[in-house]
Amino acid sequence: MKVRIGIDIGGTSIKLGIFQDASNQVFLHQKWSTAAFETAPAMVTAIAVWIKQQLTSQDLALEKIGIAAPNGNYQTGQIEFAANLNWGDIVPIRALFQAEFDCPIHFDNDANAATLAEWSMTDPKVEDFVLITLGTGLGAGIISNGKLVHGANGFAGELGHVIIEKNGRLCGCGRRGCLETYVSATGVVRTAKERFTKQGNTSILFNQTTELTARDIYEAMLQGDRLASEIFQFTGETLGFALANLAAITQPAQIVLAGGLSRAGKYLLEPTIQSFQVQVLPILRDKTIIKISNTDPNQLGILGASLL
Ligand SMILES: [Zn+2]
Repeated sequence: MKVRIGIDIGGTSIKLGIFQDASNQVFLHQKWSTAAFETAPAMVTAIAVWIKQQLTSQDLALEKIGIAAPNGNYQTGQIEFAANLNWGDIVPIRALFQAEFDCPIHFDNDANAATLAEWSMTDPKVEDFVLITLGTGLGAGIISNGKLVHGANGFAGELGHVIIEKNGRLCGCGRRGCLETYVSATGVVRTAKERFTKQGNTSILFNQTTELTARDIYEAMLQGDRLASEIFQFTGETLGFALANLAAITQPAQIVLAGGLSRAGKYLLEPTIQSFQVQVLPILRDKTIIKISNTDPNQLGILGASLL
């Protein structure tokens, strides 16, 4: 049986899926703790041993391997300066795997891999597609004319660092006003803290003694807290505004929202769509479907990697 393998390297775990030929259903999967490996070569050796065992014992013919990692550069085949991985600044991941296997090895960053996975679930006629991942930060992958947009050096698609507010909030990248400082799990918490200062203790969140999270704000909103609901309204409006700008560049037929914050569902989606419709260039209005992902986030990484 012919198979392809997807490997999703993350800060917490490394997930691997074996897929049968053209199927998108995982046939065998495995998981390792990232912290279990002190060096990248040790990690690659352990995974290669496991893969080779499976190939032999189950009589599988390996066609290709796809690998996704944070800060993965598809051009160089390296993980470059990934904040959540402790294997050095530059990790030549593709070369390490290529030394173990003869088959083609494809490598890209995790946001692009997830985009391919989510895109594979859409109508095959959709050639212009965007996936937005709303977690600690805001990640994006852009498909234009049926191809992932990589840019000249592999760094395209950094929608999270598009500046939407001149002299706005300080971002982890060192600049001010980036979209992800507003629209992300941490952005939502920053909005709450800013509003406490301005609006005082009118919210149940104000008296919370533990460190505030986006989830707390979401739960307060469900309990009818007005400030919490204003925060989600503001977050969605800000996202819609940024997506309207994005639509003017690549005009996606579909934009899918994934990641932890997207679990706020309609409370995030409705203000996003409303603001998008108001802000977008009139000729682009009603041409883009914005929706929330319903793909299992655990599958997205390995499936996407296997599709690279
Ligand atoms: Zn930034």
